[in-house]
Amino acid sequence: MSFASALCYHFPVMSDCLFCNIIAGKIPAKKVYEDDRTFVFEDIKPQAPTHVLIIPKKHIVDIKEATEADAEIMGYCQLVAAKIAKERGIERGYRTVYNVGPDSGQSVFHLHLHLLGGRKLSWPPG
Ligand code: 5GP
Ligand code: ZN
Repeated sequence: MSFASALCYHFPVMSDCLFCNIIAGKIPAKKVYEDDRTFVFEDIKPQAPTHVLIIPKKHIVDIKEATEADAEIMGYCQLVAAKIAKERGIERGYRTVYNVGPDSGQSVFHLHLHLLGGRKLSWPPG
């Protein structure tokens, strides 16, 4: 078994999913953190000094497709974001965002939590 497939042993890779392929190491990304349930990497088009994506290793399309069985991992992604925000020293103000559906700007259909910080963030968001 290759290292990449070992990482995803418990989570089937959707071969046509960009983020499943990043988790599997088939598409390169700047990894920030990884544990048994999540993978974190730098956004390719950062919108703030810190802009990372926290994704579950399990392929979940988005919040509206999630089930109660996915509730824990969606909350756990928030805790991973908080840990990274602390490490990056951006606790003065950061934002975690799950975009849901095309009108929100969602463009990748594997659940991902944006962590944005390191600059003043306006409200309401656009
Ligand atoms: P969404 O718009 O779906 O909420 O967020 C998708 C995010 O994925 C965007 O912020 C986009 O810049 C990022 N993204 C898209 N393709 C890639 C890629 O190939 N690599 C990385 N690291 N980020 C990507
Ligand atoms: Zn996926």
